[in-house]
Amino acid sequence: MIDRIHTSDVEPDADEVAIAGHVHEIRDLGGLVFLIVRDREGLIQIVFKEEREPDLFEAVQDVGAEDVVRVAGEPLESDQAPGGVEIAPTEYEVIDEADSPLPLEISKDIEVDLSTRLDNRALDLRKPETLAVFTLRSELITAMEEWFEDEGFVDIKTPLISKGGAEGGAELFPILYYNQDAFLSQSPQLYKQMLMASGYEAVYETGTAFRAEDFATSRHVSEIAMFDVELAYVDDHDDVMDVQEESLRYALREVAENAERELDLLDVDLDVPEDDFPRITFDEALDILETEYGHFPDDPTDLDTKGEKLLGEHFEEQGHPAFFVVGYPDEKFYYMQDVPEDDIASRKFDLIYKGQELSSGGQREHDVERMVEVMEEEGVETANFEFYIEALSYGTPPHGGYGLGIDRLVQKVADLDNIKEAIMFPRDPNRLEP
Ligand code: ATP
Ligand code: MG
Repeated sequence: MIDRIHTSDVEPDADEVAIAGHVHEIRDLGGLVFLIVRDREGLIQIVFKEEREPDLFEAVQDVGAEDVVRVAGEPLESDQAPGGVEIAPTEYEVIDEADSPLPLEISKDIEVDLSTRLDNRALDLRKPETLAVFTLRSELITAMEEWFEDEGFVDIKTPLISKGGAEGGAELFPILYYNQDAFLSQSPQLYKQMLMASGYEAVYETGTAFRAEDFATSRHVSEIAMFDVELAYVDDHDDVMDVQEESLRYALREVAENAERELDLLDVDLDVPEDDFPRITFDEALDILETEYGHFPDDPTDLDTKGEKLLGEHFEEQGHPAFFVVGYPDEKFYYMQDVPEDDIASRKFDLIYKGQELSSGGQREHDVERMVEVMEEEGVETANFEFYIEALSYGTPPHGGYGLGIDRLVQKVADLDNIKEAIMFPRDPNRLEP
């Protein structure tokens, strides 16, 4: 490996050190050149003085923004420098030159529209604020996985190529699989339920789901990072919400503690919801919307985007950034439990976080006969689901779970306008590269 340490590890008045990274900024003050060099962990200032190191001073005249350089030298305390330390160089080497002009400024705080940023994503990803989003993202996923590992959940991987879709419909991406038609996975739903039948008891998956969404919205993409959970021997959907609530709280707490630098860079004041997440019924949700905001969702069996946003405001004001809406009417989804004797129509719930749906879940139908009845009522082609129906027919414990959109979680935690900012290389109806 090339001899160097991270910029964040450079201490003033230590012995000579070497750092390497991209040239973030160049300031030429006549007999003085300041280079700000950036690596993954931060920025450091190098001061080239004509009097002190004439050869290096001469060499640095040709430096360009975003060149990759390595500098060795003596770390000195400096009030003006980022991190309170600067380097007086004794060695300077350009490892790779950057072409110029750059299609995107990295160091300057210039407003660039998202589409230009994404067109030049490899450069955009160099910005410290963009990198901060992905450091946060990594912290969130790691923390979430940690919680499920500690609770004894099994880490699973389900197939991304299938013969049919769990949810069916127009959102399926068809592909050619050798000489037959197949689809990209919309959700690991069927497989995680099969694993409940197989006795795995509690599973989680950090996976990918594909949805051919018609429109590009600020909360929809075509390739989604999905965190899926399923657990067996539940009494009801409240057990599933408990898991969702505790794991999310843990992940947010970890991020608030471990990612201070990133939250600072993104100007985010993350409050961890320590109180119980409110759980309201769908009817109560409609009631709040009607009485407080005079809002009526177009589809009276679902919350619309505006409804979620308004409910989000309502609960945020009471100190609850996250809450559950439970029991959607008319939820005749074959795998969702419909319990006529419950006062709620179905054991389905959505978690709304900061005014946006973050996950959907519920208790599943483990009675195969009932499930097949619903499938027939709904006109679902049971032939496509034989492997699943069969798997559940040899004894399945009551179970439930949820799917959480990781990209939406990152979007909300990092306080980003658009979900695509939370994805390194996002896919939407109009974007297939980079
Ligand atoms: P929405 O109603 O917001 O379009 P959905 O109800 O269709 O979402 P689910 O099938 O419930 O989505 O998927 C579970 C979770 O996956 C959602 O709560 C959301 O966080 C995420 N998700 C679903 N579709 C997308 C998408 N196209 N882009 C980003 N995230 C998505
Ligand atoms: Mg949903």
